[in-house]
Amino acid sequence: MAISDYSSRAALTAVDLVNSYDVMTGGDELTSEAAAAALLGKRGWVLDRPLSGSDLDRLRALRPRLRFVFGNSVVRKSVEDLNGILRELGAQPQLSDHDGSWHWHYARPRAPLAERVATTCVVALLTVIADGGESRLRICERVECGNVFVDASRPGSRRFCDAKGCGNRVHASAYRERKRQQAN
Ligand SMILES: [Zn+2]
Ligand SMILES: [Zn+2]
Repeated sequence: MAISDYSSRAALTAVDLVNSYDVMTGGDELTSEAAAAALLGKRGWVLDRPLSGSDLDRLRALRPRLRFVFGNSVVRKSVEDLNGILRELGAQPQLSDHDGSWHWHYARPRAPLAERVATTCVVALLTVIADGGESRLRICERVECGNVFVDASRPGSRRFCDAKGCGNRVHASAYRERKRQQAN
């Protein structure tokens, strides 16, 4: 499944936002403007002005709504929800080359940063659904992990998140379990 670099960075921003709240432990990484700026900076967002408290509040409010579309088996419901967020935000797709290459902007002109992030993330998730089917928006299958991820692999058969190395952890414990049984 080919995802353009631009929309994959936006989809990964959505993943990072959702995973910044750990549903298993209640741990929250998105607790300050600086933490939000760091999360966005890691995914290549250029912040032309400092994040405000209201940007932070908006990003925090967006998280549970984005989480809801991961692991949801009802595609139509996820699409309705995401389309609904775009309508609420008054999204206005415009092609721009302000940085030298053509790319989409989705938010209203001069929208606050959080609104630009929200519209771009929502469009990226809708694009994943349009291109690959909703099962590409997954929740990690390691039972102790609640992370979400986008499966961009060709067969679409990824089961575990990257962020916590869950695939390796599950395989390592399955290996230990086999060893233990062989020893008995
Ligand atoms: Zn731009
Ligand atoms: Zn995981």
